[in-house]
Amino acid sequence: MGKSASYYVGVDLGGTTMAAALLDEEGHIFQKATVPTLAHQGHDSVIERMARLIHEVVENGGVGLAQVAAIGIGVPGMLDMEKGLVLFLPNLPGTWPGVPLAQRIEEATGVPAFLLNDVRSITLGEKTYGAGRKVDNMVCLAIGTGIGGGVVVGGNLLLGLDGTAGEVGHQTIDPYGPRCGCGNRGCLEAFASGPAIASMGVRAVKQGLTTRIGELCAYDLNAISPKLIYQAALEGDAVAREIYETAGFYIGIGVANLITILSPQMVVIGGGVAQAGELLLAPIRETARQRAKVTPFEKVQIVQAELGTDAGMMGAATWARQRLIARGGSKCTR
Ligand SMILES: [Zn+2]
Repeated sequence: MGKSASYYVGVDLGGTTMAAALLDEEGHIFQKATVPTLAHQGHDSVIERMARLIHEVVENGGVGLAQVAAIGIGVPGMLDMEKGLVLFLPNLPGTWPGVPLAQRIEEATGVPAFLLNDVRSITLGEKTYGAGRKVDNMVCLAIGTGIGGGVVVGGNLLLGLDGTAGEVGHQTIDPYGPRCGCGNRGCLEAFASGPAIASMGVRAVKQGLTTRIGELCAYDLNAISPKLIYQAALEGDAVAREIYETAGFYIGIGVANLITILSPQMVVIGGGVAQAGELLLAPIRETARQRAKVTPFEKVQIVQAELGTDAGMMGAATWARQRLIARGGSKCTR
């Protein structure tokens, strides 16, 4: 390969924005850019914007597409990873099923492109450059609009069937629990995702509990978010703290299950909701410690993610590099 093609592009396709970064083989980011996804305009328009975004970060990074060895795209949904097809994107409108996204980006750039689920991308990013860089076995939970995740075993991302291994948010926590977006009942996601945390805040205000949450959003209940509840907790609000304890309790049960089954060295907690730091991590650790009885729990680190919103792009670029190496490094075959 040599110096002529030693850069990678990592793309993070999100429901509202998409981001791309130009990186070298060591994961140093030279250039980043973000544009609105505008998913309602349909997949052709999204793919065109993505191709322009890739051109932009490469040019602004002072290199040419000829120096880009591969492009990795983190996609929020189910994929045919071998064929580079999108199968199902729950949060992006349009007719995505069957769209050959990898091929379309290859045609627009002349660079091999590879797809990976967005949260598996975050996991691979944290494993390679973030919190998990010194361990070989780890689990990642990304807590945001949903709860996604990924598993790393022996230094490698565990893919399972069609890259679906690591759907940690859809483990059943309570068989009689609330309906989940996936169709099951009582999934972890239904108890502790960002919207689940926000709705606990809404309920507290509606119930007339003594809390600063209502005041902080000027009683506009739609404005209640995990961040606002975190703000109230920082100001010493007991109800807000309890909401994070409740979410941490449920996540802790899920983490205990994962620790019991996988016995990882590390559990990485990321996503927007994890910005709450110890407020969320402490109850997660406490519950997991109480429930993971047959694992040497003191050897398991439960830590906050380190890469923030760069994790997905860095992981997607890493995936592209790994796939390119696995296929013999040729620029012409996918
Ligand atoms: Zn579910």
